[in-house]
Amino acid sequence: MKRREFLQHSILAGTAMATMPVACSCKMDAEFLILGAGLSGLYMAYLLQQAGKDYMILEGSDRIGGRMYYHPKIKQDVGGRGIGDKYKEVMSLVKALDVPLIDITQFTSSPKSYYTNGELRATWEDRSTDPSLLQYTAPQPAPQLSSLNEWYQKADLDQSYAEQLRAMGRTDQEIELINISANYNDVHETSAINALHSSAFRKFNGSKTIYNFEGGTKTFIDALAASLTGPVKTSKFITHITNKEDCATVKCADGTSYCAPHVISTMPFSTLRDVACDIPFSQSQKQAIHQLGYTNITQIHLTAAEPYWEEDGLGASMWTDTPLERIMTMGFGDDNMNLVCWVNGKGTEYIDQMSESELEAYTLKTLHKIRPAAEGKITYTGSHSWGQYKYNKGAYAEFSVGQPALFQDMIRPAGNVYFAGEHTAKESRGIEAAAESARQVLDLFKKENIIES
Ligand SMILES: Cc1cc2nc3c(=O)[nH]c(=O)nc-3n(C[C@H](O)[C@H](O)[C@H](O)COP(=O)(O)OP(=O)(O)OC[C@H]3O[C@@H](n4cnc5c(N)ncnc54)[C@H](O)[C@@H]3O)c2cc1C
Repeated sequence: MKRREFLQHSILAGTAMATMPVACSCKMDAEFLILGAGLSGLYMAYLLQQAGKDYMILEGSDRIGGRMYYHPKIKQDVGGRGIGDKYKEVMSLVKALDVPLIDITQFTSSPKSYYTNGELRATWEDRSTDPSLLQYTAPQPAPQLSSLNEWYQKADLDQSYAEQLRAMGRTDQEIELINISANYNDVHETSAINALHSSAFRKFNGSKTIYNFEGGTKTFIDALAASLTGPVKTSKFITHITNKEDCATVKCADGTSYCAPHVISTMPFSTLRDVACDIPFSQSQKQAIHQLGYTNITQIHLTAAEPYWEEDGLGASMWTDTPLERIMTMGFGDDNMNLVCWVNGKGTEYIDQMSESELEAYTLKTLHKIRPAAEGKITYTGSHSWGQYKYNKGAYAEFSVGQPALFQDMIRPAGNVYFAGEHTAKESRGIEAAAESARQVLDLFKKENIIES
């Protein structure tokens, strides 16, 4: 087989095979090419800019912010929006950019009601079986972690979350109830290490105050983008990445291509797996890129014309065993009339096959049935499916049983391609993880003398 044919074959095979890198003959577009303009990509640019480096960002969609997404039609955030006072990287960035925050701590524990087996109730009497509290429970007795980045090394705890709950005395019936509305695709497949990581993050991170951005996440993302002097190119959907001896090239769906000595991919693995890569990945990296789970979430947004919860005296937020799963209040203070139905995991399949008008009718009908006081007082404002959304194909990384063992390897650079994004952060979760992951890559560049310390 001729070399060019061989290259074409390996590209078509996706991430299947890495070829011997060829020397770079292309014109360099920047010293660092950043793929994705979510928080990790934008913060990577910010850090490189501070280090006096030249970069370019390529973003597939027509907007920036990624999973920090203030939806223009719904006029609400449909992705990550809550940050804690101990989010180290994010809080220092917020301070540097002088972004206004709103303290929402008092609203995060607002009362919730329950609807299960056709019965609406004000409380869950036994806290030890409360499905809303059991979704992030660390194994008991809690494993001793001396630092947060040990979570992925606890191979002995890598069993399904359902098995962990069973070992903690929960019955099959209780586990099935938890599975309907918990923040996972399926508690029988997801690793208990996800829950360990979440609870350890809370323990080590210990945020006491929770904030939202005034005006939504757009305020923060726009301020960050305004501080960048390098090019941020949107509508650059990446289809190919090729590692070469001393550079890497990137091709986009619009036919353009770019080249740089160092490429940082912040794309979630759920979309990177669709990119034809000719990169010297290790076996574990290939496996992680192709198989890492992503929690599906579909949000259905609503506005209440009146506070119907004052009429029936029950908590406005609800944990339900219906296909609408959880219903939460989005607003706070004087702006508390916005609600979201938060559907997770396999439950999204049922919701996602409906047309917009079917979903509206179904949501209102179900809500009226489970919460009679809501009848005639709710308006549907729109929905967003993270599982169906082409640029993410899932809300966040969720390790299935066996996958935590891939973590250390999956975040290593391969050739001239480096990896950032929430799925690669060693310690944090969520928005802080996205920022931490960019810092991680910067530290690596310093260690490898690509950037002066
Ligand atoms: C519903 C929801 C609620 C959340 N709530 C919270 C919360 O309250 N608090 C918290 O801390 N965290 C929360 N998170 C998590 C947090 O939002 C994310 O961890 C963080 O925003 C991820 O940032 P990122 O840069 O790693 O990824 P992203 O923001 O997804 O950035 C990746 C970018 O890559 C782009 N891209 C993908 N494929 C391609 C391609 N082929 N070509 C070019 N570009 C591509 C995408 O368009 C995207 O802009 C939530 C997430 C969701 C979805």
